[in-house]
Amino acid sequence: MADSKHPFDVLVAGGGNAGLCAAITARRAGARVLVLESAIKDFRGGNSRHTRDIRYLHRGATEYVTDAYEEEEFWQDLRGVTGGATNERLARLVIRESETLGDWMAANGVRWQKPLRGTLHLTRSNLFMLGGGKAMMNAYYDTAAKLGVEIHYETEVQELNVRDGEFVSALALRDGTARTVEARTIVVAAGGFEANISWLKEYWGEAAENFIIRGTKNNQGVLLKELLKHGARPEGDPRGCHAVALDARAPKFDGGIVTRLDSVPFGIVVNKAVKRFYDEGEDFWPKRYAIWGKLIAEQPEQIAYSIVDADALPRFMPSVFPPVAAGSIAELATAMDINPPALVAVVDEFNHSVRAGKFDPGILDDCHTEGLTPPKSHWAKSIDTPPYYGYPLRPGITFTYLGVTVNEQARVIMQDDKPAKNIFAAGEMMAGNILGRGYLAGFGLTIGSVFGRIAGREAARHGGF
Ligand SMILES: Cc1cc2nc3c(=O)[nH]c(=O)nc-3n(C[C@H](O)[C@H](O)[C@H](O)COP(=O)(O)OP(=O)(O)OC[C@H]3O[C@@H](n4cnc5c(N)ncnc54)[C@H](O)[C@@H]3O)c2cc1C
Repeated sequence: MADSKHPFDVLVAGGGNAGLCAAITARRAGARVLVLESAIKDFRGGNSRHTRDIRYLHRGATEYVTDAYEEEEFWQDLRGVTGGATNERLARLVIRESETLGDWMAANGVRWQKPLRGTLHLTRSNLFMLGGGKAMMNAYYDTAAKLGVEIHYETEVQELNVRDGEFVSALALRDGTARTVEARTIVVAAGGFEANISWLKEYWGEAAENFIIRGTKNNQGVLLKELLKHGARPEGDPRGCHAVALDARAPKFDGGIVTRLDSVPFGIVVNKAVKRFYDEGEDFWPKRYAIWGKLIAEQPEQIAYSIVDADALPRFMPSVFPPVAAGSIAELATAMDINPPALVAVVDEFNHSVRAGKFDPGILDDCHTEGLTPPKSHWAKSIDTPPYYGYPLRPGITFTYLGVTVNEQARVIMQDDKPAKNIFAAGEMMAGNILGRGYLAGFGLTIGSVFGRIAGREAARHGGF
């Protein structure tokens, strides 16, 4: 259905997972598709290029997953981590539609591998991409290019021209020149605003200066702001973010997966005042790792220290930066620039409170503390085997939750409750509809892939395809 007024049927703003899923789907439906991506080609794929695995519904074991993971369990897992802060209709839509993702992704060039070993308990529920998110994004870009999707890198969409809830055109900056881009519909898939420190400061104050952003510096929230300015209904807690315990020595942006530390459940964590502040063994790490960034963000100077011993070191994924090592707890404290007598006292108190059980990282075991505040509920083992190791931790922001409200067609809902005529959103832009709080490992990609495909399909349909 060519339209001479518009050179493109679908403009996709943002070339991460959600954007490419939308672009490929719209193109396969017959639409003329343009993707505008602000990064240089080598850094295309936004935060999606840092991913490793995707959660999806399946009804039995395959070569790559060990058993079934069906709708009700998926839904209960999601309900558990969000504490009910989710739109059940949209959440179940994502869960159901995720069943076809494994085949769809493979048909678009993604290859799988057996689950990685480590502390994350994902062998049953998640598919791991061979080569990780970088290979996945390369496959999608290749597929899109072969299908005839036009892709412009180093092109930032800066403004949207929206009239009465209808997208008219976008203003995009390329090679220092601003150009107006017209299309019949737009899919906004430009991620969250996690890389915009001044925006984060509006909710976190000066503490945000100490945050480390795990992904692309390009996710500045420019288009989220634009959509909100044009009357899109916000969704999600502006302060809400997926934030993990990150090695404090990580680069400010784009350090990716390797700077995350999974040592927490195998030792104790203290803050700058050398106080423990949360149960390190509350639940399985995949269900808890995403709360630790926020916990650290609430500590003095937004720094904490993970302390483990030689017995614990082989139990978690090796760190990219070597741990600080010492022959005694006091020496470790000195090396980490925290108060040595205080750390010795905290470790002693912890060791005395440990009630030995049958240690098993694969289950919620019975190794716990007694009479300790806060408690350590599982995997509590005395820290008494030298050498001792420590990691400085900072809040590592993965993505923000604030986004725009969407309906089942991925259409953006405006303040007057009416769906926008031709504006669709996918990925982190709208994930807050489904993940109001907490996180399930591998679910960011699930939301982006399902809603990316829906947005692509509906945008093409709006254009008459
Ligand atoms: C280190 C790390 C590991 C992760 N691991 C996993 C995992 O294993 N599994 C999982 O499910 N999730 C994981 N996530 C979360 C996952 O990355 C996101 O949920 C998902 O990639 C979001 O996809 P998206 O397309 O919405 O955003 P992105 O992939 O970030 O894409 C947004 C794109 O928009 C571009 N952009 C931004 N603003 C503009 C603009 N104004 N104009 C043009 N382009 C713009 C950006 O350059 C970027 O390429 C991880 C995240 C990080 C940071």
